[in-house]
Amino acid sequence: MNDPLISVVAPIYNEGDGVDRFLDRLTEVLAGAGLRHEFVLVDDGSTDDSWSRIAHRSHLDPRVRGVRLSRNFGKEAALLAGLEEAVGDAVVVIDSDLQHPPGAIPAMVRRWQAGAHVVEAVKRNRTGQSFGNRLSSKVFNKAFTGMTKVDLVDATDFRLLGRPALEALRRMPEHSSFFRGTSSWIGFTRATVEIDIDRREGGASRWTLRGLCRLAVNGLTSFTSAPLHLVTMAGVGFAAFSLVLGVQTVVRWLSGGSVAGFTTVILLLLVTGTFVLLGLGVIGEYLARIHEEVRGRPRYLVQERSAAGPPAVPEQWVAEQHAER
Ligand code: UDP
Ligand code: MG
Repeated sequence: MNDPLISVVAPIYNEGDGVDRFLDRLTEVLAGAGLRHEFVLVDDGSTDDSWSRIAHRSHLDPRVRGVRLSRNFGKEAALLAGLEEAVGDAVVVIDSDLQHPPGAIPAMVRRWQAGAHVVEAVKRNRTGQSFGNRLSSKVFNKAFTGMTKVDLVDATDFRLLGRPALEALRRMPEHSSFFRGTSSWIGFTRATVEIDIDRREGGASRWTLRGLCRLAVNGLTSFTSAPLHLVTMAGVGFAAFSLVLGVQTVVRWLSGGSVAGFTTVILLLLVTGTFVLLGLGVIGEYLARIHEEVRGRPRYLVQERSAAGPPAVPEQWVAEQHAER
């Protein structure tokens, strides 16, 4: 394939002047490497001037395309929207806050041209993140990798997907998509490049603790039913425990003595209560997942797309004007 088209897909949520910084920096890198490219910027319902900046840039440069979602659907949905919109021979998914070093893109493209279908950027360090952040993502990635056999240790969302891999990914209908997981699950020939995560340029992380917890639960429940099996295992463990305790209690009773009353009862109630509720919670998470999938709502809604050149008059207005005459 000579001169392939590279689509750069980036989700944007309240990045403000970060949009211009991002486009300038990426254009510099891509043009410097002589890569033919397009940008697909997905505005995930920003409440600041991100969209007008995107629209402005796409009027100036036909290689920049903007998609505006009707509200904040979350990063995963924004990524999906971008992937569906991209037309390139390969797509590069990258954060718009410049935490993913754009300088790695030419190396990723080379790996792809050398035959890899999916090129992942893996972290060498995590300078831009706090200790708590680092610890929690490490714990989550380890747990995820252990339970699902999809390796997420040191993984990022910064990836290049060749067209066949992208088409495979787009065939996954699930609502609660988890890009990092699904893009590993599909398989395909893979390669990695190492990157250093930079500090965020401008603004703070868009994630709230709640948002991150949701992402973690979504990621887990959409990939594995291991937590459900854990509940079963805990149940089996309790059965063994009750057998021992039951026999012991009866034997004691028969031999005239009995166990110290209230303390045992209170402890047993607390422990069983906790486990029953946790078990119900786990089942509930899966039920919620099924409920969400069954409703089959669209995963995101597009409000408008930016067009190159001066804004065109929507066709339906023209038709209405004709009808009035
Ligand atoms: N983002 C988004 N929608 C959201 C939250 C974030 O599109 O609801 C985008 C954001 O603009 C950025 C990327 O996702 O390009 C990563 O967000 P952030 O830097 O806040 O996350 P972190 O780097 O802390 O994981
Ligand atoms: Mg970031």
